[in-house]
Amino acid sequence: MKDVKALDEARTRSSSLKVYINGRLVPSEEATISVFDSGLNFADGVFEGVRVYAGSVFRLDQHVKRLYESANAFEINIGMSPTEFTAVVLDWLRVNEIRDNFHLRPIVTRGNRIPPRLDPRFCSDQPNVILLGGPISPADMRGQRLVVSSVRQINSDALDPKIKSLNYGNNLLARLEAVRRGADDALMLDADGFLAEASAANLFIVKEGQVVTPWSKACLEGITRRTVMELAAAQGFRVVERDITVTEVLNADEVFLTGTGTEITPVIEVEGRRIGHGTAGRATQTLYSAFVEMARSEGTAIYS
Ligand code: PMP
Repeated sequence: MKDVKALDEARTRSSSLKVYINGRLVPSEEATISVFDSGLNFADGVFEGVRVYAGSVFRLDQHVKRLYESANAFEINIGMSPTEFTAVVLDWLRVNEIRDNFHLRPIVTRGNRIPPRLDPRFCSDQPNVILLGGPISPADMRGQRLVVSSVRQINSDALDPKIKSLNYGNNLLARLEAVRRGADDALMLDADGFLAEASAANLFIVKEGQVVTPWSKACLEGITRRTVMELAAAQGFRVVERDITVTEVLNADEVFLTGTGTEITPVIEVEGRRIGHGTAGRATQTLYSAFVEMARSEGTAIYS
């Protein structure tokens, strides 16, 4: 978000919300956690990004499932069942009177680690469970300009990207490089030099009626990615998961990114090279319309 006024409004709205911390609802200026927190000290925690459309939470069950699977991979006990967690999320959204265009950020860390050493046995038994959020705007269909980052995405043999952990060091380095080079975002390669994903979104290319996305070797299994694959198949596209090279991206008819925050965002330029016609392509626009229609008509109702 580069619009200063929109950024200011988002800041004001975010900081006017009550924050959930370990069962308490507190004004944002009082919403603090310990300096011993495991997330702060070792990125020892997991998180989600969830979106509210038209009074409902899109794919809430899938986000909760991924949060619990990520926590399980890190051996973090969230201390409540997924059903209880879902109820906490819906309650929090009601308390804050959230209805639309909202991005919810659940965070769970292993808890306070005193003294702050790596051995998890220094941790308290209680995780820190936090719910934050803020307004979010619809995807910018004018499209994004990307670079190909010199920073690789971590392969699943090192830190499985399917675990949505707080370790975003390489994603951050890629985004910093993008900003430094005047781009909107960066594509990251996997260890073998094929495309993995963008810094916080999945990648798709469209070529001769096929919709292609990197197989999930080195990318997050995005919930939007799965939804878009289903929508594309329903519209008659052949959907393929496979390795993609930078050359294929440059020669694609269309390129787009997907994510909860990103929705479906066209890519109009990569490394200064125009993609397709340099505007959102037909398939991207059709998929975006179908996606928004689905997101605004399905989901877990906040108010019943
Ligand atoms: N990749 C990364 C690295 C991300 O952070 C995100 C955002 N959660 C995505 C992909 C897109 O995933 P989703 O569609 O589940 O939001």
